Amino acid sequence: MLTSIQAAELRTLLEAFRERILASANDASHFSRDRDRTRMGRDSVDESAEEAMYGTKLRLADRDSQTLNAIEVAMGRLAAGTLGECEECEETIGFARLRARPMSKLCIECQEDREAGFEEPGA
Ligand SMILES: [Zn+2]
Repeated sequence: MLTSIQAAELRTLLEAFRERILASANDASHFSRDRDRTRMGRDSVDESAEEAMYGTKLRLADRDSQTLNAIEVAMGRLAAGTLGECEECEETIGFARLRARPMSKLCIECQEDREAGFEEPGA
């Protein structure tokens, strides 16, 4: 269980994190507007290089939206008082770990178990 001071610190971290992602999402939308404006008169080589770069931006935006979701979930858990409880074993996640990654849903032991589970069978 988090103290109110710890909860306030995590809320500040999550809000700052969300601000950063929203700021970079704005950058991405500027990029797509610029792209439309500068398209005219380009040859097909430039066009395909631009397409590749635009694809990278889209993937970034997609990853950002997943992170944004994770932040929203974490803030919901914070409000409900369940942030800092491991989803697997219900043990308390260490505050240092939460401070480093407030969206953590697993304690370090369960995280390591889960990562070990992704190894090739028999490897
Ligand atoms: Zn656990």
